[in-house]
Amino acid sequence: MKGVVKFMFTNKKRIYLSPPHMSGNEMAFIQEAFDTNWIAPLGPHVDAFEKEIASHVGLVDAAAVSSGTAAIHLALRLLDVAEGDTVFCSSLTFVASANPIVYLGATPVFIDSEPETWNMSPQALERALYEAAFNGKLPKAIIVVNLYGQSAKMDEIVALCKLFHVPIIEDAAESLGSTYKGRASGSFGKFGVYSFNGNKIISTSGGGMLVSNDVDGLNKARFLATQARDYALHYQHSQIGYNYRMSNILAGVGRAQLAVLEERVIARRVVFERYYHALAHLPGIQFMPELPNTRSNRWLTALTVDAKEAGVSVETLIELLAVENIEARLVWKPLHMQPLFEGIAYYPHSDSDNVSERLFQSGLCLPSGSSMTEEDQDRVITCIQKSILKAKSISA
Ligand SMILES: *Cc1c(COP(=O)(O)O)cnc(C)c1O
Repeated sequence: MKGVVKFMFTNKKRIYLSPPHMSGNEMAFIQEAFDTNWIAPLGPHVDAFEKEIASHVGLVDAAAVSSGTAAIHLALRLLDVAEGDTVFCSSLTFVASANPIVYLGATPVFIDSEPETWNMSPQALERALYEAAFNGKLPKAIIVVNLYGQSAKMDEIVALCKLFHVPIIEDAAESLGSTYKGRASGSFGKFGVYSFNGNKIISTSGGGMLVSNDVDGLNKARFLATQARDYALHYQHSQIGYNYRMSNILAGVGRAQLAVLEERVIARRVVFERYYHALAHLPGIQFMPELPNTRSNRWLTALTVDAKEAGVSVETLIELLAVENIEARLVWKPLHMQPLFEGIAYYPHSDSDNVSERLFQSGLCLPSGSSMTEEDQDRVITCIQKSILKAKSISA
């Protein structure tokens, strides 16, 4: 895409996929950190942010860390994942979901999506678990991702994992503020993970949160996240640790952002609705569904484009949007298709349906920021409408 941008002739303002959206109250929290000189990876904002997130998602405790990736890494450590172990993971996700498995010398096994949520297929998971049990090598953990804000089918997944006694890590990096049957997305596993990266629904510029009802576990996470320093007068260490805690300044930003989370969810859902009404009737367009009894934060509006029906491919649409200085993206490339994970085991949804590969071939993510104006959105909508209608009139 860089090449396309270089030869752009438009002087129109750039529309980003998911830019940070500050509320204006962040500065007061940062000022307080400065005034009290809590410029450290600990302090009152960190403690308060942890309590506020835990209470927001209905869990007992939370540990603030430097990134969502760090939170996943810590969760895997807490579950004793080590060399020789396997960990099941959704395939259709960002590489950060699976990288920490490899940090620990374990091997991922990738599970396909199903069509109703685009998330982990319970039937593929079931096959993978039975096969693993049969081979006497159950996974140490399962990482379930909630893509673009949509919760996975947690009832089915939790039931399967209970049956096989395998703990769940819920990668809710993209789904803070979403619910599944009235409960917060990210609160279903042994551990849940949120991210506050610059592009997420709320941001601390960079940061993450590990959540759980296991208070001892989270205390151990805090210990591991501060270089695993033993209780002693001198510096003593008997385990490998990390430098993973969140700074008090950034936790202050997070507190101000959390206060507007619900507004941000509403704004992103409005963005989705406007796209839906303007584009859903076009030939070959299908929007990412929302499972009944769930509420997605609609972090990114995602849809599929059937190139034959629409007369234009997703790749072409992305190029046409880039010419208009609009950032759009393909959906995540499934991890089982990544060169990094060549040869890794993968369980498709069924013999006849490889859902994540299908979604990768046709999936598109549109600019979805909560600060997006209607005018900006009209530029995106007009470009897509024109591209498809023009393609149809040429082919007609
Ligand atoms: C963003 C993201 C992460 C990683 O979070 P960071 O804070 O960027 O480390 C993990 N998983 C998913 C699904 C993500 O979208």
